[in-house]
Amino acid sequence: MEMEPQYICPKCNVNLKVGDYIILLGQNRKNEKGLILLHSEIGNYTSIKHPSFKFEPGEPVEFYCPVCHVSLASDFDENLSHIILEEKEKSYDIYFSRIAGEESTYVVDGDKVSATGEHSYKYTYFKMDDKFKQYLRR
Ligand SMILES: [Zn+2]
Repeated sequence: MEMEPQYICPKCNVNLKVGDYIILLGQNRKNEKGLILLHSEIGNYTSIKHPSFKFEPGEPVEFYCPVCHVSLASDFDENLSHIILEEKEKSYDIYFSRIAGEESTYVVDGDKVSATGEHSYKYTYFKMDDKFKQYLRR
């Protein structure tokens, strides 16, 4: 049996994917928290949340691991979140926008980047030369 792709918290290694969805803890601008389900298929921007957890299009939503509560903010761009994809015994860094309504996803395998989503042009970090990237890494 082939293993399904798994999405993993970079800190505690818990499986974030249940069924077809990745479960994250979200926090809106008013510091209200709620669970968000993001579709696990790359390029599918379907998400599910309880109607009582509200945010506006364009609003930054902070994402946290629902198990260990670590912030999933990426090191180099505050508007991108970072989780790990494990597929066929390989692991990839997944970056996605935390701006509500913005469709940008990057699958990074070493130096190879595949960008998905109509807003993926916004994050030019992935088009930069490696010698510039090193200055941005913390
Ligand atoms: Zn975690």
